[in-house]
Amino acid sequence: MSIERRVQLVENLFLQLEKESTKFQQTSGIGCITGCGKCCTYPDVEASPLEFLPWAFHLFLNGEAEKTLLLLNKSTDLTCMIYKPLSIIGQGRCSDYKYRGLICRLFGFAANTDKYGKLRLATCKIIKEGQPENYNKTADAITKDLSIPVFTEYYMQLNQIDFHLGNIILPVNKALKMALEEVLQYYAYRPMPVNGKNALPA
Ligand code: SF4
Repeated sequence: MSIERRVQLVENLFLQLEKESTKFQQTSGIGCITGCGKCCTYPDVEASPLEFLPWAFHLFLNGEAEKTLLLLNKSTDLTCMIYKPLSIIGQGRCSDYKYRGLICRLFGFAANTDKYGKLRLATCKIIKEGQPENYNKTADAITKDLSIPVFTEYYMQLNQIDFHLGNIILPVNKALKMALEEVLQYYAYRPMPVNGKNALPA
């Protein structure tokens, strides 16, 4: 499948998740603190290359893919390279929020299934401790009938787009690197896409 088709399918999945998580956030009242970004600073964030294919393709279209790949190859930093700290007190933000990955869109507002088959809200300590009433109410409601995005369901849908790139889970910077390599290799012997569209069928 062409890069553009895969990018389009991943973006459709993000759109579907956006609608589901907006509804969940409105019903639950749970929300991130403006300018927090703490979860992006964890060195153990993991993702699949496929969820960053739209990001890599966007950089490629803007002539920034090779430069970014060089930076990633040189870096030993475990924090997501897209994260930009804004202050010494730990605040920061995603510098490419529109192109963030699936894990970034799910964390905080999605559930995992525990060993008893029950849904468990996967969120951060800041939300748990800072919004205890909404957190407890929501944790209880999702075991009953409150609709919530589920990690495994979204990752299964991602795998169906490209099993190879969707099924590998890597430290986030390795996933970014592999997404860039995929795009650069794909276009190494193909014409540049015209206005974001490929000139020739893949
Ligand atoms: S892509 Fe953006 S939202 Fe996702 S971990 Fe990196 S900085 Fe955070």
